[in-house]
Amino acid sequence: MSELQRVLVLGGGIGGQVAATRLKQKLGRDARVTLVERSESFVFAPSLLWLMVGKRKPPTISRDYSAFSRRGIEVVHATVTAIDTAASAVETETGRLEYDYLVVALGAALDPDRIPGPAEHTHHPYDLASAERLRDTLAGFEGGHVTVAIASLPYKCPAAPYETAMLIDGYLRERGIRGKTRIALYTPEPLPLPVAGPVAGHSVAAELARRDISFHPRSQLEGVEPGALRIGGETLAHDLAVVIPPHRPPDVVARSGLGGPGGWIAVDRSTLRARPGNVYSIGDNTAIPLENGMMLPKAGVFAHGEAEVVAENIARRITGDLREEAFDGHGTCFLEAGRGKAGLASGNFFASPAPEVSMHRPGRSWHAAKIAFEQYWLRRWL
Ligand SMILES: Cc1cc2nc3c(=O)[nH]c(=O)nc-3n(C[C@H](O)[C@H](O)[C@H](O)COP(=O)(O)OP(=O)(O)OC[C@H]3O[C@@H](n4cnc5c(N)ncnc54)[C@H](O)[C@@H]3O)c2cc1C
Repeated sequence: MSELQRVLVLGGGIGGQVAATRLKQKLGRDARVTLVERSESFVFAPSLLWLMVGKRKPPTISRDYSAFSRRGIEVVHATVTAIDTAASAVETETGRLEYDYLVVALGAALDPDRIPGPAEHTHHPYDLASAERLRDTLAGFEGGHVTVAIASLPYKCPAAPYETAMLIDGYLRERGIRGKTRIALYTPEPLPLPVAGPVAGHSVAAELARRDISFHPRSQLEGVEPGALRIGGETLAHDLAVVIPPHRPPDVVARSGLGGPGGWIAVDRSTLRARPGNVYSIGDNTAIPLENGMMLPKAGVFAHGEAEVVAENIARRITGDLREEAFDGHGTCFLEAGRGKAGLASGNFFASPAPEVSMHRPGRSWHAAKIAFEQYWLRRWL
């Protein structure tokens, strides 16, 4: 190897953490690995749902990035403002960074203002500040009508809105006010987790029914008013609205020229390589079509698996090994069901003609496993 290779990882979320760590482990002093992340602190998103119902505090689910510096990874806290693949360079608020290999892992941006009507009239648990606001509102809630609505597709973590409804159900039962509350869930989807197929969808719908959460599929949110949501031409009053906001590709991704369907980055689904060939992209900022015409869900489990493959393939290219690992589309996800139980969805999302996903009904062991996974993530990667 003639000179030190520069590998730039954009985004220090789930995918970027794994990619940067593995690259440094595999390449050691043979490469300079730089992680660019705008935030000083990482929040483990799955735990926001527990925080929403008072079961976590922000410090227990947040970490700074000092572990990456200790691993020999250069951490740059700056916002990426431009990706110039022609020049193999990235512009940030604090300067220009050149690369030999680039991994783009900038996630999906929330776009709450896309819903007509003031977004302040609704809540969501999709970022720390919003989850804390929802937690405080729930703590003061004394009963009434709770509406959970999915504004549009795609959104992060296909299970999270369903988990949100079931956790709110469990929380209100613990507080003894579930009898005074109606919970309804509206989604444009035909079934919960449609990408996982009808068996998975019907099993989640049955869990909602078991908890007396009314489920309204194929329902499009059209607007938000104080105290009411307009859905499918009707105005539906509520006392508390939880609206999963629309998502969009980060602006810098949309402007990068890497954009594929909907502005998300188009990649080879096996190698996660974008065009040009020294650029890879993983996680929520990609769009990966599946055999059934749907897209691979935006979920941490896939960002993680893709990061492992990309790190291996970049390390092989740098060390002159031309073989390539392939991402196989397998993923497993816990579904928190409230009151100390969780289910599990697991399968091969690249299967043909459609993903093959098995579901395990909610139980205490999956809930314990979900907690163990949270602890593993926060200790292993940060
Ligand atoms: C409430 C909730 C629950 C979830 N539960 C689960 C679950 O149980 N299982 C699961 O698999 N997934 C779950 N997810 C989804 C999971 O968190 C995401 O799919 C995963 O984090 C995607 O990883 P990523 O690396 O692609 O993006 P992210 O983890 O979102 O990381 C992107 C990073 O890029 C940074 N960034 C963005 N733009 C810029 C810029 N211009 N400059 C510099 N930095 C920038 C961001 O600050 C962020 O740190 C959940 C998500 C939510 C919101």
